[in-house]
Amino acid sequence: MNKKGLLLILSGPSGCGKGTVLKELLAAEPNIFYSVSATTRAPRPGEEDGVNYFFLSKEEFDREVSQDGMLEYACYCGNCYGTPKKPVFDRLERGEHVILEIEVQGAKQVMESCTEAVSIFIMPPSLAELERRLVDRQTEDEEAVKRRLAAAVDEMNLAKDYDYVVVNDKVSEAVKDIAAIIRAEQNRSCRMSELIG
Ligand code: 5GP
Repeated sequence: MNKKGLLLILSGPSGCGKGTVLKELLAAEPNIFYSVSATTRAPRPGEEDGVNYFFLSKEEFDREVSQDGMLEYACYCGNCYGTPKKPVFDRLERGEHVILEIEVQGAKQVMESCTEAVSIFIMPPSLAELERRLVDRQTEDEEAVKRRLAAAVDEMNLAKDYDYVVVNDKVSEAVKDIAAIIRAEQNRSCRMSELIG
């Protein structure tokens, strides 16, 4: 029988570089399926429906939630975000690892409903560096940067609830750390039952 894949949760404040870390991790580890989230946020330039997110109206999003189609969902800085449930469980059953890139409220829901999930919090090297990255990427206006920085402080206070904390000072090092976490988690005795009984 196929061994089930790992359910990985990746969180971290907006601007901590999770997107870049994730992109490099997915390039280095082909057995990881990236779960595309649904959101009511408007697409940013260059973002594609079904690739970066499923861009839904609030009505469509609410319908998915009411039909029990979301593994978790949360509102973040005025928009709704959620993880479509079916693709996640389909891939895990096939033995693929699945990674959810989600904020802290959604992560808490998944930690509670899927206790075997492995959670990783990405920390920026400092708050000053986080602000610099948020301003530099020019995807949010000044108000949105302020909101995201305030949210970041609250989010970083929850890092202790995660299984692992990875500091994203250098992307390649953060990717190596996550790959090492995955490798170690695969070899936990509780996941080797077919070998050791
Ligand atoms: P952004 O608008 O910058 O793409 O994402 C804002 C925040 O929403 C990020 O912290 C991101 O991790 C989070 N997020 C993205 N997808 C989901 C999701 O499906 N569920 C939850 N709870 N958060 C998500």
